[in-house]
Amino acid sequence: MSKKTIAYLLMGVLLLALGLTGCGGQQPAGGGEKAAVLKVGTEPSFAPFEFQGENDKEYAGFDMDLIRAIGKQMGMQVEIQSMGFDGLIPALEAGNIDVVISGMTITDERVQKVSFSKPYYKSGLTIVTKQGNDQIKGFGDLAGKRIGVQIGTTGADEAKKIKDAQVREFNTPPEAFMELKAGGVDAVINDKPVNDYYMKEAGSKDAQQVGEPLTSEDYGIATAKKNTELSEKINKALDELKKNGEYDKIYEKWFGKKP
Ligand code: GLN
Repeated sequence: MSKKTIAYLLMGVLLLALGLTGCGGQQPAGGGEKAAVLKVGTEPSFAPFEFQGENDKEYAGFDMDLIRAIGKQMGMQVEIQSMGFDGLIPALEAGNIDVVISGMTITDERVQKVSFSKPYYKSGLTIVTKQGNDQIKGFGDLAGKRIGVQIGTTGADEAKKIKDAQVREFNTPPEAFMELKAGGVDAVINDKPVNDYYMKEAGSKDAQQVGEPLTSEDYGIATAKKNTELSEKINKALDELKKNGEYDKIYEKWFGKKP
């Protein structure tokens, strides 16, 4: 072997070693590189946005499909963690997770603490009452009533503004619906698309949805304030998914119509 050949061989080995160790961090998936992990927090009792399969406990729903598509677009591996809705923003602030997708409304109060992506879904609040209740027809009829809400939500904020209402906060909307069924509350205030889904799937035997939506709310994907780079990447991925039809496909899968 000539000195030149040995030199080339050594160089080859060196390049290979460099290639294998990589430059760390944000490598796209594929080509043998290990994809960077995107740690996602969600409160998975908010069907059809996030819920867990009855048997496999797999995370399913519109938000879950959307964040997986966004992760793929960014070349990152998506890891989903479940936590209480009121614990999501603190977890972001503490750096325990990178993003929150959880049917979370972009509000002025939250914008003080975290960054949001561009809006990705339009929502609003409606009321669910017991089947046959003809006294509560809208938000104007809720004064002095017992109202169930999910803790830390826009529904909870609105309920607290109602005169003389007794507001009871539950960890999840299904728990509030259970209490409605049991007669412990007169009404539940919650996001319309989730109420729609509950009516369709199970609720309409015992419950009814009433009233025009009280609010117009936009859902956004939250990131830590200091992580502006990630927020920009998410917006870019969202734009691409809207352009290439993937967003529409996911939307139609969960809502049965075009956005
Ligand atoms: N959209 C409501 C909010 O942001 C409720 C979200 C939820 O319960 N997952 O407060």
